[in-house]
Amino acid sequence: MTCKEAEQMVMPYINKELTDKELSAFLSHIHICQDCYEELEIYYTIYTGLAQLEEGGEDQNLHRLLEESLRMSELQLRGRKFFNIYYVLSQVLAMAALSIIMVMEILKI
Ligand SMILES: [Zn+2]
Repeated sequence: MTCKEAEQMVMPYINKELTDKELSAFLSHIHICQDCYEELEIYYTIYTGLAQLEEGGEDQNLHRLLEESLRMSELQLRGRKFFNIYYVLSQVLAMAALSIIMVMEILKI
């Protein structure tokens, strides 16, 4: 992913509009690119700060909030990936079990 692409994903990221694939690519880029991380932090601070002002919430450490948001996104992605692997594995196991049962049935005859 280029910096230009990452920049275009900053707002969709904050609005939680990225697909899993986009989110994954975006997070990887943010990890290695300080420029884009700073870009994200600026936007995040502005938008989250404004939202907090509107809600009249307490002043929070926005940098920490962003770190938490990024971590949650990663956990979410990892969780979904894990679920997919688990799902495929369970399907394969079910098919294998079915095959074994069928072979056993056939051998009995
Ligand atoms: Zn970049």
